[in-house]
Amino acid sequence: MSIVAAIAQIRHELPSTVELVAVSKFKPVEDIRQAYEAGQRAFGENRPQELALKAQQLPADIQWHFIGHLQTNKVKLILPHVALIQSVDSEHLLAEIDKQARALGRTVDILLEVHIARETTKQGLLPEEAEALARHIADYPNVRLRGVMGMATFTDDTDEVRREFRTLKALSQKLSDIPDCDQVSMGMSGDWRIAVEEGTTIVRIGSFIFGKRN
Ligand SMILES: *Cc1c(COP(=O)(O)O)cnc(C)c1O
Repeated sequence: MSIVAAIAQIRHELPSTVELVAVSKFKPVEDIRQAYEAGQRAFGENRPQELALKAQQLPADIQWHFIGHLQTNKVKLILPHVALIQSVDSEHLLAEIDKQARALGRTVDILLEVHIARETTKQGLLPEEAEALARHIADYPNVRLRGVMGMATFTDDTDEVRREFRTLKALSQKLSDIPDCDQVSMGMSGDWRIAVEEGTTIVRIGSFIFGKRN
């Protein structure tokens, strides 16, 4: 399927209230341009250098989402380009984003990444750590907490995936008294339909749109 056809198919099925982030990591700018011409504006990248380079080559109205592990020394590199950092997984990183955002005179939207999968390799805060951090987010005035993000276990066991998404959704509902904190980012190529059923507000879809990554 072409990039344009894949996006059309997802849009057809996706409720209009759910945002599609096209995960373009490892893919060339020409592929992103095709998606852009089909009306797609939000793209996800997981390597700082790659995001910065692509942002410089592509239209300025693209909203870049950072979705990978971010080292504190790379915050500066992405901050001028990024619309939402989805993968804040420590207070140390949060503090650095706040500091660099202040230096630029801006506020940066972030999500806290929460570990919901069974696998120990996937990063993220424990739900109780994320909640504790969210409760003193006012200590970091140059970040705006928009919600939480998570990745389910890579498995055919859809009940397991659904349980994990429910854990994340429940956390997001607990945090919904925090101003502007109303987003939950869950669902990828293999499990986004389940995420939609469980109340996601952002899906991050890569290989279904752009094909397999090498
Ligand atoms: C790569 C990636 C995706 C997209 O995965 P696909 O299975 O290709 O859709 C989504 N979220 C994160 C955090 C990723 O690293």
